[in-house]
Amino acid sequence: MSSAETIHIDGVWRAAASGAQREVLDPADAKTLAVVSEGGADDTDAAVAAARRAFDGGQGAWPRTPVAERAALLRRVADLLQRDREEIALTESRDTGKTLEEGRIDVDCVTDAFRYFADLVIGEGAGRVVDAGSDTLHSIVVHEPVGVCALITPWNYPLLQASWKVAPALAAGNTFVIKPSEVTPLSTVLMMKLLAEAGLPDGVGNLVTGAGDPVGARLSEHPDVDLVSFTGGLTSGVKVAQAAAPTVKKVALELGGKNPNVVFADACATDEDFDTAVDQALNAAFIHSGQVCSAGSRLIIEESVRERFVTELARRAGKIRLGRGTEEGVECGPLVSAQQLDKTEAYVASALAEGAELRCGGAQPEPNEVRPEGGYFYAPTVLDRCHRAMKVVREETFGPILTVETFRTEDEAVALANDTEYGLAGAVWTKDAGRARRVAGRLRHGTVWINDFHPYLPQAEWGGFGKSGTGRELGPAGLAEYREAKHIYQNLAPEPVRWFAG
Ligand code: NAD
Repeated sequence: MSSAETIHIDGVWRAAASGAQREVLDPADAKTLAVVSEGGADDTDAAVAAARRAFDGGQGAWPRTPVAERAALLRRVADLLQRDREEIALTESRDTGKTLEEGRIDVDCVTDAFRYFADLVIGEGAGRVVDAGSDTLHSIVVHEPVGVCALITPWNYPLLQASWKVAPALAAGNTFVIKPSEVTPLSTVLMMKLLAEAGLPDGVGNLVTGAGDPVGARLSEHPDVDLVSFTGGLTSGVKVAQAAAPTVKKVALELGGKNPNVVFADACATDEDFDTAVDQALNAAFIHSGQVCSAGSRLIIEESVRERFVTELARRAGKIRLGRGTEEGVECGPLVSAQQLDKTEAYVASALAEGAELRCGGAQPEPNEVRPEGGYFYAPTVLDRCHRAMKVVREETFGPILTVETFRTEDEAVALANDTEYGLAGAVWTKDAGRARRVAGRLRHGTVWINDFHPYLPQAEWGGFGKSGTGRELGPAGLAEYREAKHIYQNLAPEPVRWFAG
């Protein structure tokens, strides 16, 4: 594979049919990192045709491969990911800007996803027997793959989001075409190479690098695609659902979030508690420069502890070491693109115009020895005295911006936390176990952390309420997305029904 042959169809690496290419930029200095093929609608059609053939093939085709063999392939991929852990982590770090250590953690999480779905698909068995009420009736529900799956992924966790789709899709016996974000396609190219090395038959997994429109748009509308699983922003997700509607394909959407981090005063009772709650609020908002779908970008804090908490939070946010993600000692990388940087600047400007108080950040930092000129760096920013009427509180900024709102009562805290069109994730911090469970029960979010922020488990479903999406990834529901349930009802002693007398 030469650097510009990044389209993988039917087991062959190739350039775009049009010959078009795209430069992938290093967000730390805006210089060219790699050149990839810029796929178009014709490449997409060829990839779907390959996936269709691989799905519809005869007895030996992927959907009819024994489950044990499919699981074994996933496990081989997991081993290869670990073999190449450092190379993949470095690629992910350079492409997305995240730190190398975050890249390594991502590779481990991706490995876990492949292993989890291998175990799950084996453990779940072939289906279930249903009591049809008679010895002469035999009724079973079996799982079958959905068919050709289009997998569309974002730039913030390129490989992780890909693995949450590729692993269950393959485990369930589907074939796929994956389209990574045009901003960060490099690790997905590496993953395709590992899938091929692990022995994935030609045509079962296909990759088209290219833009959302045309490649993602064509996949979404394509009549030969049976399912589209999309992770990305709300605007694109709506377009995907609209494009998919006329062909009534299955659609799973994993969209954005505007995630509350609710802190009660009792969570700050001792100095140790206070330190933990501040530290985790910092992590919730600023890891990966806030470019996380579940980022705790709304601090909702009990009024009595606001000043002390925000002062310490802003002090520590101001000390976060920004720089190229591969540099030793760097804690936060750049934003992924000039577009994200512009967006962040615009959100901060609008917040200040609407009356927010800037407690730290609010600008691009000066270049230095770990922070090259031209990189898309932005200082972690804390905006105090925010309220729900502000655009920065309502919309997902996807940048290093933390807004602060306050409450006096539990009801008020819950109302604020739920006052969002999204519903992906949120946290509650309190020493009161009863209140913790009450509030967790009332939050309308797909994941709720109590006295923690960010962890997820491959065994537990991930997804959103409201406009954070439809469907779930991970957990048993994350496999079920890629399956059809078929009821087979067998009459062992058929007789006439005699409904019609004539
Ligand atoms: P995006 O919507 O711009 O792009 C996501 C993907 O969709 C990319 O591959 C893009 O090329 C493609 N795309 C764009 N327009 C399309 C169209 N019309 N039809 C089909 N595909 C199209 O999102 P992004 O900026 O890459 O990612 C950030 C967003 O992803 C944030 O909103 C974030 O919250 C969300 N996200 C959600 C989760 C989750 O688990 N819910 C995880 C990670 C990221």
